[in-house]
Amino acid sequence: MINQTMMQLGKKRSVIRDIFEYANSRRAQIGAENVFDFSLGNPNVPAPEIVNRTIRELLDTQDDASLHGYTSAQGAAPVRKAIADNLNERFGTAFHADNLYMTCGAAASLRITLTALSAEGDEVIVFTPYFPEYGVFASTAGMKLVEVSSDAATFQIDFEKLGAALTPSTKAVIVNSPNNPSGVVYTEETIRRLSDLLAQREKEYGHPIYLISDEPYRELVYDGIEVPYLTKYYQNTIVCYSYSKSLSLPGERIGYILVPDEVCDSKDLYAAVCGAGRALGYVCAPSMMQQVVAKATGQVADLNIYRENRDLIYNALTQYGFTCIHPDGAFYLFVKSPVEDAVAFYEKAKEFDLMLVPADSFGTPGFVRIAYCVSTEMIRRSLPAFQTLAQAYGLS
Ligand code: PLP
Repeated sequence: MINQTMMQLGKKRSVIRDIFEYANSRRAQIGAENVFDFSLGNPNVPAPEIVNRTIRELLDTQDDASLHGYTSAQGAAPVRKAIADNLNERFGTAFHADNLYMTCGAAASLRITLTALSAEGDEVIVFTPYFPEYGVFASTAGMKLVEVSSDAATFQIDFEKLGAALTPSTKAVIVNSPNNPSGVVYTEETIRRLSDLLAQREKEYGHPIYLISDEPYRELVYDGIEVPYLTKYYQNTIVCYSYSKSLSLPGERIGYILVPDEVCDSKDLYAAVCGAGRALGYVCAPSMMQQVVAKATGQVADLNIYRENRDLIYNALTQYGFTCIHPDGAFYLFVKSPVEDAVAFYEKAKEFDLMLVPADSFGTPGFVRIAYCVSTEMIRRSLPAFQTLAQAYGLS
């Protein structure tokens, strides 16, 4: 018999995929310009100029074997060194090439990391709302996902709830700041309190609790907001990074795992990361892209467009009477459904050809997510539809 869990996983379409298919059918019926699709977190801003320039230079200057050949399983050493050097320059850290394992994006980074850490009965804590794939990655790595609700007003960590959720079975805690889907960035105070609490529980339980920082949106922040670099606050931090959003390269599948020297049993953990990469078939991340990100690391796609989009949609929707979380980062707006059932609200929005994502699968019923990584012009055209939607609920 085939693997039933995998079969179910393959058959089950995500809500976002369903919306995507529905939006496509509406485009065919009424014309693309009349469909306002806010469902996908697919960056619409072009990659920074250095990306395509580097690809052209590589094509012109390198032979096929060095450009398209295998690198070492954990990624080419000069690439890992270039990334470590850039991080050290930006964050005052002391990383080196052997702290890094190159991956096919944050999804692979997370899946490998959880596999490297997991033992029978281990729990991994996530804060709602969270990226729904965490559930898939944790369960397939043999871990139990434990959801902890965030503070209802600020979407920062609710420390009372976290305190109650931590147990001797807690192996890891995943944080994602800037957050998909809320756009919230954890403050330095939140990070300090989190670090203190985890350190205290490590002592109490007599084993490490790993903090996994899932940070594909690290550079996507507005108004000079700082995103604390977690390895500087908490010893047992592992970073899962991706260039999908910062460099607008989601289809190129490139990112990394960072296991700093300070982490407990760092060398063994790094070996376990290499082992998990091997076991999962995630070795040698795309070799040309490794070279591209080594050149472009630390650079960011055009944030001005995202900021303009954020201001436009946040200001308009709040003016129409919707309650929205103010996003300091990423490119998502989290909107409170005017009725308890966010799926009903999402269905109503579809009547106006507004494609939103109900946040039930993010662990936060009663909200919808709007991905504003779309053209500013589409947002402008969609505003009358949002206003009519607000009126349908008596909001404006
Ligand atoms: N983590 C979060 C919070 C995300 O939003 C995403 C993608 O949207 C991922 C991980 C996966 O990123 P990647 O495309 O690099 O695999």
